[in-house]
Amino acid sequence: LNTMNPSDLPVSVVIPVFNETENLEELHRELVGALEKTGRPFEVILIDDGSTDSSWAVLRSLQHKDGRVKLICLRRNFGQTAALAAGFDHARGGIIVSLDADLQNDPNDIPSLIQKIEEGYDIVSGWRRRRKDKFLTRRVPSTIANTLISRLTRVRLHDYGCTLKAFRSEVIKNVKLYGELHRFIPAIASQLGVRISEVEVN
Ligand code: UDP
Ligand code: MG
Repeated sequence: LNTMNPSDLPVSVVIPVFNETENLEELHRELVGALEKTGRPFEVILIDDGSTDSSWAVLRSLQHKDGRVKLICLRRNFGQTAALAAGFDHARGGIIVSLDADLQNDPNDIPSLIQKIEEGYDIVSGWRRRRKDKFLTRRVPSTIANTLISRLTRVRLHDYGCTLKAFRSEVIKNVKLYGELHRFIPAIASQLGVRISEVEVN
């Protein structure tokens, strides 16, 4: 039984990083700006998934400047799902938010995801209603995948591919992730009887 008032819950942000040197400083700046506005304590967990560029050096300098930054370094490239799973394992917040490092997700959407968790939902998934990706190579396959996953799992979401999500900690910590399963987190978690919602994101 979770007796803690959700507005007291600290937030852990979990971000997988593979060769993102040129994005990390801006990501950190935007993220901290958005999180400070929520007035909650937070930590930012960045998982270096075997980057071969200077990502690790940039991450170390961010950690040096900002004590809220926590780093995990994977021994080699394991893929986005494994990197996310490592971050979820180490997260200490009552609310856990996942997003991409490549600035495709807007940190300013995080407060509205958190607010939905406060309303009582266990998983809140971002919905990229106006996607700016390439039509044929990204949006068409994604539409097909969304339709298939929706039929197969009976969890109705518009956008299964959006990494920007918020979770109640006890829910995501009870989901075992492997392979490329991160797209199916809501479907897997639905078997735990969780309440799922969607929020439109940038
Ligand atoms: N990523 C990772 N390991 C990988 C590939 C990607 O940790 O092997 C990270 C990447 O740095 C980014 C997120 O996972 O933060 C999503 O990756 P990408 O943008 O390549 O995926 P897409 O947007 O094409 O789904
Ligand atoms: Mg991307």
